[in-house]
Amino acid sequence: MPRNSRYDILFEPVKIGPVTAKNRFYQVPHCNGMGNRYPHAIAASRGVKAEGGWAAIATEECEIHPTSDVSPFMEARLWDKSDMDRLALSVDAIHEYGALAAVELAHCGHQAGNRYSRLPLMGVSDMMTGSYDPVQAYAVSKRDISALRKMHVDAAIRARDIGFDIIYCYAGHDLSLAHHFISRRHNRRTDEYGGSLENRVRFLREILEATVEAVGDQCAVALRFAVDELIGEEGTVAAEEGKDIVEMLADIPDLWDVNVSDWSNDSLTARFGEEGAQEKYTAFVKRVTSKPVVGVGRFTSPDTMVSQIKRGILDLIGAARPSIADPFLPKKIEEGRLEDIRECIGCNICASSDMVIQPLRCTQNPTTAEEYRRGWHPERIAVKHKDEHVMIVGAGPAGLEAALSLGRRGYQVTVADAGKQAGGRVLNESKLPGLSTWRRVVDYRLGQIEKLANVDIHLESALDAEQVLEFSKMLGIDRLVIATGARWRRDGIGRTHFKPVLQDSDMRTLTPDDLFENYSPGERVVIYDDDYYYLASVVAEKLCAAGAHVTIVTPAPEVAAWTKNTLEQRHIETRLFDLGVTIITKHVIENACAESVQVNRLNSDHKLQIACDQCILITSRQAQHQLFFDLDAMPDRTAAAGLTHITRIGDCLAPSTIAAAVYEGHRYAQEYEQENDLHRIPFKRENIELAP
Ligand code: ADP
Ligand code: SF4
Repeated sequence: MPRNSRYDILFEPVKIGPVTAKNRFYQVPHCNGMGNRYPHAIAASRGVKAEGGWAAIATEECEIHPTSDVSPFMEARLWDKSDMDRLALSVDAIHEYGALAAVELAHCGHQAGNRYSRLPLMGVSDMMTGSYDPVQAYAVSKRDISALRKMHVDAAIRARDIGFDIIYCYAGHDLSLAHHFISRRHNRRTDEYGGSLENRVRFLREILEATVEAVGDQCAVALRFAVDELIGEEGTVAAEEGKDIVEMLADIPDLWDVNVSDWSNDSLTARFGEEGAQEKYTAFVKRVTSKPVVGVGRFTSPDTMVSQIKRGILDLIGAARPSIADPFLPKKIEEGRLEDIRECIGCNICASSDMVIQPLRCTQNPTTAEEYRRGWHPERIAVKHKDEHVMIVGAGPAGLEAALSLGRRGYQVTVADAGKQAGGRVLNESKLPGLSTWRRVVDYRLGQIEKLANVDIHLESALDAEQVLEFSKMLGIDRLVIATGARWRRDGIGRTHFKPVLQDSDMRTLTPDDLFENYSPGERVVIYDDDYYYLASVVAEKLCAAGAHVTIVTPAPEVAAWTKNTLEQRHIETRLFDLGVTIITKHVIENACAESVQVNRLNSDHKLQIACDQCILITSRQAQHQLFFDLDAMPDRTAAAGLTHITRIGDCLAPSTIAAAVYEGHRYAQEYEQENDLHRIPFKRENIELAP
């Protein structure tokens, strides 16, 4: 189908200094957990985005020198010539489809860590580092500043020689030295680099001008700048210094890439920010500069994108997460296939990959970071090897993804689910406060399955082993996939309890699953969170809205501790505080009896009794694998029914994130013909070459 003409504007070319973007879709720098360690993997990922229609594709932050060594985090690296070949793989992959390659050169100053290079940390002032490390950074001297300028220029020249089209100077996220120079709270200098705004901007101006002079004839020079740090007068405020800085540097860079700082504000999850949430901060930039402006906002709707351009907010639609969730977003808009867009749900599982130092993962796109090592592609999958009929029991994220991908391969697929609607845990969880976008995981898959004549879904069909055997015979099923999910444990067994928690009948002890079925909240509810992810906090929000007084008890040192990795922890803590939720950290539940819960402080004899009328245990989940074991126990009968394989996938095998369930469903479909051989390494590795 041809694209709707109202989206034509998105496909206009944009001149950026000496280079031209073929359209307005611009993948801004984003971390990917692969960096310099997996250069083929990241190159293949970027190549797929170029194929998907993005006009420009940027690296993540790229260390320019061993004094800016952020290891063990996996970022790009360009310390010297020996790093060039690795980045060249990405540049070539991007150029293959006519996209521009951008590199975000960065010196992270006191935030670097230098854990591998072991060099002293350079800072704008004498200061503590951003981590808990017992080390400090030293204030750079004037001689250091000129060395830093040269580091930027040398790295820019190397980047140009690799073939990059756009070269960044980075002053954002509170992660770059240029940003630290600008910052009133970090910069305590008394020389010409400190004090007045003009002085604090001097370092950024110098590296920007030096970069333009060194490579500006061939490459566009972009400035990534956080116009607001959202911490008031302590930091940059868009309406004040943010605007003044853009005015001071207005036409020096060829491209302004603007956002808010820090990363947790820039990459807000859907729970804390709508599509386009940064507009109120960045909208002024285009009025101040004549150069093109790119900005982000988790844009997945082409109408919103058009509106950003037409209203003069942005020239280029910046995207990190939407490009991960759907590398073919531009192509799909171009081809008028809006219903095929796999919209980002704003969960930040992708960001967590960088935080825990692993290759990128995405809830919506299971193929991300698997393009090279497993040969997966977000839009293409190998056709079936032979005619077979697969039955999938369970239509949660694992079952639906397996059904969709097997269906696309051409297999006959029959799905049975006990529920009135398909979707499994996503159906329930997306009804919790702030999680409505998570429905997209189900909606996208159901929408795509609807187009496949070879996939049938049967709802309100709870199956036991006998029924599975009966249907298998009747329908001629060859293989059975069990994707029956998991349920929260009622006994409290989890990280801190290896035996059931003592409970008595005077206390209503509940699990999150109970909350989705005819539940009425108590007046005083204790949530025991041994899970550490989002669920306890969203349940608390729901209960507060219903008028309950909520206490969250957790053994972790802070509430929703794992959400630090999804950049949500501090937003969650603030919200819970505003709602009046009592938070008790570093305590373990002892019992839930007689209208109270007893909790013990970790590493002490201190005990606390909390009066309540309900206790919700969020500890661990029990895989619902009974059907699997029932069938596994009758090999003769399953063989007689024609079943050659019975496999469990997703939460019914090992309960995990929704992203993991989608991934496992996809992996099943991709590896359908392969024997499940645990002795075989199932992907291509990138081994480090030993120098001769
Ligand atoms: P996952 O995350 O692994 O996809 P979910 O818990 O989200 O798992 O989904 C599991 C789905 O399986 C639910 O929709 C549930 O209704 C369905 N289910 C569980 N047991 C059966 C069964 N015996 N027969 C049919 N459907 C089942
Ligand atoms: Fe979007 Fe979540 Fe995928 Fe990140 S992991 S790109 S937030 S869907």
